[in-house]
Amino acid sequence: MKVKQIAKMGIQLPLNIMRHSVNLGKNLLNIATEQVNMRFNTNSAAKKTGSTQVNTSTALNTDLTSVQSAQNGDTVNDEKELAFRHASINWIPATILVATPLAAAIITPWYLMTHHVSTSVWVVFGIFMAWTGLSITAGYHRLMAHRAYKAHPIVRNFFLLGATLAVEGSAFDWCSGHRTHHRHVDDPIQDPYSAKRGFWFSHIGWMLRKYPSGQFDYKNIPDLTRDKVLQIQHKYYGLWVLATNIGLVSAVGWMIGDVWGTLVLAGLLRLVLTHHFTFFINSLCHMIGTRPYTDTNTARDNFILAIATWGEGYHNYHHFFQYDYRNGVKWWQYDPTKWLIVALAKVGLASDLRTVDDVTIKHAEVQMQFKRAQQKIDTLAEIGPSNLTQAMLTFKDRISFEYAQFNDTIKEWQELKTKAIEMKKNEFADRLHEVDELLKDQYALIEKKILMHNRNLKQAFRMIANQPIKADNA
Ligand SMILES: [Zn+2]
Ligand SMILES: [Zn+2]
Repeated sequence: MKVKQIAKMGIQLPLNIMRHSVNLGKNLLNIATEQVNMRFNTNSAAKKTGSTQVNTSTALNTDLTSVQSAQNGDTVNDEKELAFRHASINWIPATILVATPLAAAIITPWYLMTHHVSTSVWVVFGIFMAWTGLSITAGYHRLMAHRAYKAHPIVRNFFLLGATLAVEGSAFDWCSGHRTHHRHVDDPIQDPYSAKRGFWFSHIGWMLRKYPSGQFDYKNIPDLTRDKVLQIQHKYYGLWVLATNIGLVSAVGWMIGDVWGTLVLAGLLRLVLTHHFTFFINSLCHMIGTRPYTDTNTARDNFILAIATWGEGYHNYHHFFQYDYRNGVKWWQYDPTKWLIVALAKVGLASDLRTVDDVTIKHAEVQMQFKRAQQKIDTLAEIGPSNLTQAMLTFKDRISFEYAQFNDTIKEWQELKTKAIEMKKNEFADRLHEVDELLKDQYALIEKKILMHNRNLKQAFRMIANQPIKADNA
């Protein structure tokens, strides 16, 4: 009876998966279409009522304000929005991205309930998770897209193979799209996974249809298109995907004595998890978290997402200083990709690790805190000084005083940088490090001052925490 039931399930399962895939796929695509249409309709409706109304319309419209306010570009942008609306289905990625999560959600629990899975299969699953995940973060992302460091060909090709196993497109597509994302971040027309088009679009929707922002011309990756190995990966990408995800996974499964178990866990489940963990960087990392370095774009720092994304969750820092090989820049921040790159450098397999200097990083952070303080002062100004409590008045005065001091420090810093450039110009190359040594103490002094401004600002904010804004007599 039991055997008969399992056999019956074996026949029904693929049919059910197909049926569910088609139904759910249809629904998912409909949601994606509706979301894009909604943006288009709001844009058109706002335009019809005139440009003055555009600026005061709803929050949804403000997402597209930059697009709408550019009078000359309006026609072009409307055409592009129209192209978004009529984008046809991107069949191969859409099929993979819809079918694999559904198959994993059904097959994995069924397989685990009906089969014994050995420890070796779980170990291979873990290794493949780490290999594919880190190949995307340390390989495609930080090495190829941002050139944040240099790697030995063995490491580079090992990452390339792992990134192919991740099925996230060829290095050309991935890196070209990502460079465009950084260049036009949040732009609903040009950013391929603009968070301004909502969670669904930035997470997965952008790959399901042939949206204009997803058509890459590779002009922004001349350094990569020259690379012979990457050319081969791009040309035979489909074959490479099959060879790694089916060929390699099965071979490893055969070696450890469980082909099917390895295919289900280290193949299918690993693929789906890696996909969505990476996709979170484009969706949730632009929605949930803090913005310690800049609020000029939607990118956020998020520790929880850093855990799932091998350290890529510190996305606010990354968007501000994209060429830094670190995303979690503080020594205590969870960034295994950063640790891996450092470890590779220690054994001579990586070099030229690019970093942003501490003063510049701290400057951005303190500048952002002043911006927040200014926003607070702006709200106090609306209430009027005569209605404010003493604590708020003190806060206001203190921030003005601190800001003047901070500007003096920044001026000093700029002068020191100019001086350093001048000194270096007049020195021979072999004595450049002496100039750096000479200026080291002065840079350290500036850093100390910036840290002091940081402490003072934090103290000012602590003083007004839980304090009433308006005086009782107001
Ligand atoms: Zn981003
Ligand atoms: Zn990036």
